[in-house]
Amino acid sequence: MKLRKVTAASAAVLALALTATACGSEDKNDSDSSASGDSKTIKIGIKYDQPGLGLKEPDGSFSGFDVDVATYVAKELGYKPDQIEFVETKSADRENALARGDVKLIAATYSINDERKQKVDFAGPYLLAHQDLLVKADSDIAKGTDLNGKNLCSVVGSTSAQNVKEEIAPKANLRENAGYSECLAGLQSGSVDALTTDDSILAGFAAQDKYKGQFKLAGLKLSNENYGIGVKKGDTTTLNDVNTALEKMVSDGSWQKAVEANFGPANYKNEPAPKIGDIVS
Ligand code: GLU
Repeated sequence: MKLRKVTAASAAVLALALTATACGSEDKNDSDSSASGDSKTIKIGIKYDQPGLGLKEPDGSFSGFDVDVATYVAKELGYKPDQIEFVETKSADRENALARGDVKLIAATYSINDERKQKVDFAGPYLLAHQDLLVKADSDIAKGTDLNGKNLCSVVGSTSAQNVKEEIAPKANLRENAGYSECLAGLQSGSVDALTTDDSILAGFAAQDKYKGQFKLAGLKLSNENYGIGVKKGDTTTLNDVNTALEKMVSDGSWQKAVEANFGPANYKNEPAPKIGDIVS
């Protein structure tokens, strides 16, 4: 009887000790995750329809270079992968999503330019891409001016659409959609002669099983697209932390690994890692 009492008491002590340990580690996790903010999760805007960059997979997971960059940066800010909430942020929504506070960061093939810098701050750049054309494999469109009078498709709110209207081919019949799937369907059916956006994005589309052999990239470097991570205007602390994280991602080899994993399958020959603050105009 006495022995049983002692055992019960020890068990209670042990249970208490375990509870205390559990609480302790929970507290630690909480403080880790709130290192750069008060919430336990971080919302990051990405694209959902760009294979190799930002893609929502059928099982609900996310893949792509932007997703890997976002996950690395979030880790450096104190958030584990399960504390990241990815939010679809289409091209035309990016500035507003940051201004409204819907997301803390945007890693969505987001080119740094002066107009956008009036509304948001950019960390980076972390990738240099170029505007190009995706055409049917047998198309004879070979240069930007060939687009005048042709049916061209791009995404609303993108630098690509703006460049076409202002510089590359003002007489092209430009159709602007919210996302890329409508442009790809049009290219396949022949109602669209070319899809224009960054070569990094186009390479991912061309390599998809369902389009294999049907399309080709024209291989034109029509612009320089310096991808930055969008941060709310004036949030200097986050901006500096993200820049530090991006520098580390390059120096510890994670950037190169992410490039190979995401651009390798599409055979996209990316430019070398840019230096933070170095914008190629
Ligand atoms: N990188 C370009 C841009 O930021 C085109 C791709 C996109 O819209 O995401 O506008």
